[in-house]
Amino acid sequence: MELTKRQQLIIEIVKGDGPITGEQIAERLSLTRATLRPDLAILTMTGFLDARPRVGYFYTGKDSNQLIKEEVRRKVVKDYKAPPIIIKESSSVYDGICTLFLEDVGTLFVTNAAGHLAGVVSRKDLLRAALGKQNLEDVPISIIMTRMPNIVTCEPEETLLEVAKKLIDYQIDSLPVVRKVSNGSKTAYEVLGRVTKTTITRGFVELGSEVTV
Ligand code: ADP
Repeated sequence: MELTKRQQLIIEIVKGDGPITGEQIAERLSLTRATLRPDLAILTMTGFLDARPRVGYFYTGKDSNQLIKEEVRRKVVKDYKAPPIIIKESSSVYDGICTLFLEDVGTLFVTNAAGHLAGVVSRKDLLRAALGKQNLEDVPISIIMTRMPNIVTCEPEETLLEVAKKLIDYQIDSLPVVRKVSNGSKTAYEVLGRVTKTTITRGFVELGSEVTV
């Protein structure tokens, strides 16, 4: 969304003469207060202007770059995560391949008997296993999975930006969203969801349609 000529004019007026009331801005533009209301709402929502009761509107001094950065940092994992697709450690590679197709995902998370994160299996892990001559129903998924503690995870409060950096740095397609739970003296992880390259792409597309520059 781009700023309209009128919104840009409002910013100029507030920049020059703020704090200024909505009434006064309307007067300067020879418009009614009601006509201006949506513009003022957009400009405060997007962070260009701030409003204080009984004082009026003032310019926040934030440029488009700062506002975009703030918008990016507002996108957090818990608002975007998808349900995790989980398979038990005791399953076979054959079960894994079926689950991958049935659930239409690229990565499976593997949990142990206690229901805690034990491993991750990607499509290439499964393809590699399928290249061998063994009967895939006899090969346990735990043999081919990437296992703890080598799993890169994220938490619900992390930003999508932090997750995107992890996906790039570790050259992987998805991360389990986890919560730490205590398991005797050890730390274990409960799987709450998944974030993938698709999640990041969705956040990016949303950003493109939301941000006012
Ligand atoms: P693919 O290899 O199918 O394209 P990935 O790039 O996600 O999928 O996986 C590459 C390798 O990294 C695989 O061996 C996989 O087990 C492992 N992997 C995938 N996700 C993670 C993760 N979150 N943490 C650690 N290793 C992972």
